[in-house]
This record gives sequence, C-alpha cells and structure tokens, in this order.
Amino acid sequence: MKRGRKELTYEVLDNAQILVKKIVDSFPDLFWYIQPDKIMVLGIQNDPPKSKNWIARISPISGVFKALAEKNKWLTKFVIETYSMDWNEMSEKEKAWIMFHELLHVVAMKTTKMFKHDVLDFSCIVKKLGVNNYSNPDITDLFGVKFDEDFVNQRRDYIQKQLEKIEGKQS
Ligand SMILES: [Zn+2]
Repeated sequence: MKRGRKELTYEVLDNAQILVKKIVDSFPDLFWYIQPDKIMVLGIQNDPPKSKNWIARISPISGVFKALAEKNKWLTKFVIETYSMDWNEMSEKEKAWIMFHELLHVVAMKTTKMFKHDVLDFSCIVKKLGVNNYSNPDITDLFGVKFDEDFVNQRRDYIQKQLEKIEGKQS
C-alpha cells in the first residue's frame, strides 16, 4: 500500500534506558510512581526530523505496538522516541535533561493522560536552564539540581489524586 510517509525504522537505545532508570532513582520525589522498565526508549534510524526543534517525544503505547507488547508480554506502557543520529551527538548532560523532560510528562503508569507544558518547556526546567538551552555545553548537571519544593509538592499532590482515581476505578 502506498503511504504518504516513509516507514520508520527503530532501534532500542540501551544507554537511554539506563539513563531513564538513573533519573527515576535520583528524583524519587518526582518519579516515585514510574517503573523505568515500563518505558522504552527508541531511536529513529531514518527519516531525520523536519524541524530542528523536535528532539524527543513520549507517548503511551498504542496501535500495532500495543498489540505486539501485549502478545509478547512486554512491560512497556510508554515509548520515548528520539532520532538516533541526534541522540548520538548529544552530551551526557543534554541527554539527561531530555529524558528528564519526557519523564515529567508522565502522570501515572496506568493512564494515557499526560502532563502538558507551556509552549516553551516545563517551567521547572526553564528556571534551571533557561529557554531552549539543552545543547549548551555549560548547562547545569541535572543530577546536581534541587527543584523548588512548591513545584515538587504540587506535582506530588496532583499525581497522588490521579493515582487514587485510577485505583478507585479498578477496585
Ligand atoms: Zn514535552
């Protein structure tokens, strides 16, 4: 069948998987509800991005991929996509902030609802890095950052409410 878009080819980015786990472990106040093995990071190997601003995206698994995951009993609930070529050129600091950004989108493992951010970025990241600054070699090391308590608490309260809702629905 003819399609408008070239088929994408993907690879699993093992070093990104390790980074996701490290981030979740390093920021329990933000990510205590995230199971890193339910998040798969894939690098798109062909079809480079149309826009330089597009770095990565996280989405709940759906469609063919969801069916495959269920059939094969994969744990995967979310997929982070990035471009392999770009990923390989990034500094370790940049990679960490990008995965951190994507993880901030996750509301719960059992919902497809996602956190949104302002047009620019999550404000907690803008506060630490400025705008559009991920590739700056002098950016702060994510693993040394402490985020505002207000931000952490607000986020925790919201997520806790969502988790209660989800659990309520299940029992
Ligand atoms: Zn985002």
